[in-house]
Amino acid sequence: MREERFFRPQDKKSGLQNDKKMERTRFCELAMSYQPQARKILTYGHPTLRVKCEPVREFNEDLRRLAADMFLTMTQSEGVGLAASQVDRTIMLLVVGVPQPESEERIRLAAVNPIIEETRGSWEYEEGCLSIPELRDMVTRPEWIKLRYQDLDGAPQVLEAGGMLARVLQHEIDHLNGVLFIDHLSPVRRALMKQKLKELERQNAGVCGL
Ligand SMILES: [Zn+2]
Repeated sequence: MREERFFRPQDKKSGLQNDKKMERTRFCELAMSYQPQARKILTYGHPTLRVKCEPVREFNEDLRRLAADMFLTMTQSEGVGLAASQVDRTIMLLVVGVPQPESEERIRLAAVNPIIEETRGSWEYEEGCLSIPELRDMVTRPEWIKLRYQDLDGAPQVLEAGGMLARVLQHEIDHLNGVLFIDHLSPVRRALMKQKLKELERQNAGVCGL
């Protein structure tokens, strides 16, 4: 999901409610032992973006390297979240790097096999997507979520998130199920994007030979 610098006042009390310092430290250690490489982000029309990703069963070096590459790819693209399918790996792994209101620090998190267990509220907000360049629109999603996932070592984790973090996580989990933000729009809103979407599809037809 693309970066947004705007926060509503109520976001101040939302965000990461678990202590994720350990995970951040772990990522730093990982980054020191492996030189991550940016990967190509697939764009609309590429068939992989519509694939339902497979659960991760092996928590190995390949998974940690993929996560490190995804963090780098997301940061270089000025994104706030990235799903594995966007870099052509159809496994249930996502990364987020969400800025915090009134803070320089971002919440950085890698989530494997994420499942949304509970939701609350409803919030409409403008979304964009690294895989659908130049298009944005308002999407309504739950404002708060309870998420179960595994970290990069396979340890079970629970996270309660609100505001932008909750939104980005939902956007990325959609990707893992082959769902894009434009699927949430009304047919009328989507029709307005038709020309641009067709353009993106044409570019991919050349790349994939479809
Ligand atoms: Zn996206």
